[in-house]
Amino acid sequence: MEKNKLEKYKNLLESELKLLENELNSVGRKNPDNLKDWEAEPDEEALPSADSTDYADEIEEFEGNAAILKELEIKYNETKKALEKMKNGTYGICDVCGKEIPEARLDANPSATTCLEHVK
Ligand SMILES: [Zn+2]
Repeated sequence: MEKNKLEKYKNLLESELKLLENELNSVGRKNPDNLKDWEAEPDEEALPSADSTDYADEIEEFEGNAAILKELEIKYNETKKALEKMKNGTYGICDVCGKEIPEARLDANPSATTCLEHVK
């Protein structure tokens, strides 16, 4: 891939990573035992309490947070992986078949690590 194109995707990935990190920090916190992992951290008010009449609602909110966190975490790890591939000089190459990933796909999703045929 041409250097200026690589640079373009690198910038996209780096700003995406920052954005994701901010969002992750707002819905969860890093697991101290595994910094690659985030845990859902509901704020005090969102914690279910037995004497609350909105118990079910609060549990739902906590589960909602955990689901959002999971999604963000997957995206975050994909973005990190793509940046890693950039360092190794294998960015834009499918992890499965080793063919070049079409640029249209990278434009739509710069963190793609497989061609369309090999989407997980
Ligand atoms: Zn492939």
